[in-house]
Amino acid sequence: MKYISTRGDQSPKHFCDILLEGLAPDGGLYLPERYPKVDDATLSRWRVVYHQQGYAELAFEILSLFIDDIPADDLRALCTKTYTAEVFGTGEIVPLRHLENGIWLEALSNGPTLAFKDMAMQLLGNLFEYELARRGEQLNILGATSGDTGSAAEYAMRGKKGVRVFMTSPAGRMSPFQQAQMFSLMDDNIFNIAVDGVFDDCQDMVKAVSNDLDFKRQYKIGTVNSINWARLLAQVVYYFAGYFQATENNSEKVSFTVPSGNFGNVCAGHVARMMGLPIARLVVATNENDVLDEFFKTGVYRVRASADTHETSSPSMDISKASNFERFIFDLLGRDGARVKTLFGDGLARDGKFDLSQHPAFNDARLRYGFDSGKSTHADRLATIKDTYVRHDMMIDTHTADGVKVAIEHLQVGVPMIVLETALPIKFAETIVEATGVVPDRPPKFVGIEDLPKRVTGMAAEVQAIKTYIAEKCA
Ligand SMILES: *Cc1c(COP(=O)(O)O)cnc(C)c1O
Repeated sequence: MKYISTRGDQSPKHFCDILLEGLAPDGGLYLPERYPKVDDATLSRWRVVYHQQGYAELAFEILSLFIDDIPADDLRALCTKTYTAEVFGTGEIVPLRHLENGIWLEALSNGPTLAFKDMAMQLLGNLFEYELARRGEQLNILGATSGDTGSAAEYAMRGKKGVRVFMTSPAGRMSPFQQAQMFSLMDDNIFNIAVDGVFDDCQDMVKAVSNDLDFKRQYKIGTVNSINWARLLAQVVYYFAGYFQATENNSEKVSFTVPSGNFGNVCAGHVARMMGLPIARLVVATNENDVLDEFFKTGVYRVRASADTHETSSPSMDISKASNFERFIFDLLGRDGARVKTLFGDGLARDGKFDLSQHPAFNDARLRYGFDSGKSTHADRLATIKDTYVRHDMMIDTHTADGVKVAIEHLQVGVPMIVLETALPIKFAETIVEATGVVPDRPPKFVGIEDLPKRVTGMAAEVQAIKTYIAEKCA
């Protein structure tokens, strides 16, 4: 399997070439040159694989179709090492539980940081360690986080050979729980940097360092952001696992509702559907930052300025633009890389938006690719959390609540609706208390983490400061 760029660069690359890379050289995102098709017999076989041999073996089967430059035994070992009951809490790894009226919740948030990003990041940590060892290379991951991504990256990379993580975050702006999660890590290869500023300052510092090509090369700076293809690929697996739990045979269809921000999670659903998984609809749920809902309703993709990006109670969906969206548009426009380059390159830079409402392909988003969308606000979130708690004695987090709210609006008779649970309520306790008056349960391993010793370096929001720091630690 070879990979190509969404902006037309056809020089084919293998999986491990793009594993450690971010964007393609032409500024596009990588996608496989075609989607492997899964026939009925294979789907039946995978159903048995998941139920009898488990999630790791299913992951190996799916990943094998996209990765041809890691020997099968090694790839299987990486999957087995990643997806364990010990790390993810249950043997099913992503168990389904029924809510009501054919609505199911698929649990993706029982990994080390209690959010779905662990599903992909844990695999990424093992893939990075493997590939860096094979090449005899080192990598210094530099990132900016306001919460979930940074902690998922640190818990995936901690103790891994060949990798260091430098993670910036805005000082004092993460929840006490999130700070405790990250800053209590004592591993030698993890460096927490609390920047005197807001998230955008952190992001700007990271960009400035990445744009200094000499520094980047000398210190082998890399990233683990959500456009990484390996992350997206890892997420494809749980769409299959969810389907096998909700159905008894392949003639049945299911729909998914996905709490969305950067469009990474639901894009994995799109890939699963393109492979032939019987998905009726992929429903994109947004919060007040409704860039994606607006596109699926009107055909206009309009990125927001920072000042127009709302801070909400489902903060991991607070996006101004959806970084993975370009992948779907590439497929929607019949893989016309030149057109995508115009839309996402100059077009967005000049106009801050593009309009496909008159394009013949726009209706395909719904009709051919199964997409639909909806939006949820703070009031909806509170009402949904409370209702789910009162009527079903089940606590859901704020992001998942956005999903449940939108899912209810898109039910079809006879089609199970699977809502992806993207975080556990304890991570967003304040809003849960606001909705229900009750403090959510805390998994035993997190009891008292706020009291653990912290390891974090304060820093001014200056590019030179972070460069000096990295150079010192790499000396
Ligand atoms: C990252 C995240 C999302 C959004 O996922 P995307 O892949 O960016 O669409 C939703 N919920 C939670 C809890 C997250 O951490």
